[in-house]
Amino acid sequence: MKVAIIVIDMLNDFIYGSLKCERALKIIPNIKKLIEVGRENGIPIIYGNDSHLPNIDKEFDLWGPHAVKGTKGAEVIEELKPENNDYVIEKRRYSTFYQTDLDLLLRELDIEGVILTGLHTNVCVRHTAADAFFRGYKIIIPKDCVEAFTEEDHVTGLDYLKKIYGAELTDSEEVIEKIRNKVYT
Ligand code: ZN
Repeated sequence: MKVAIIVIDMLNDFIYGSLKCERALKIIPNIKKLIEVGRENGIPIIYGNDSHLPNIDKEFDLWGPHAVKGTKGAEVIEELKPENNDYVIEKRRYSTFYQTDLDLLLRELDIEGVILTGLHTNVCVRHTAADAFFRGYKIIIPKDCVEAFTEEDHVTGLDYLKKIYGAELTDSEEVIEKIRNKVYT
């Protein structure tokens, strides 16, 4: 199955800044390893990054200002910096599909399944999964590569993804093995 790895909102503001999430620290090395193996094996790596317009985006009413376009807070954390052949999609809503060209890109790459990683299990990962499901993509979630503010948000988020979108819950080691064995190409 042709897959892409999507890295959602692993940005300075989400890990170290205004929406700081300590629980996110432990997924950084897992995502790093996964995308490194992905790159080595020609799997497209796609970043879905919040890039909000100041004073406009309604999300600020709920979350306060974060990941404002052009600021350090909106940049991918140093540990997971995009490389030359990676794709970077800027988004202004939870879903990486909403009003972006992600779907077009996935179609051009002949992608059948998306491996979703990043933040948060119950917000942007969930909404990206919803849009992936509506468009017919298979959804794979390595549980050790997504996180949320609380254990409850994370666990109930995973459960929802599995029940409602048929997401396959797995872990990064298993995904890496499938990439190496060419189950995922
Ligand atoms: Zn946002």
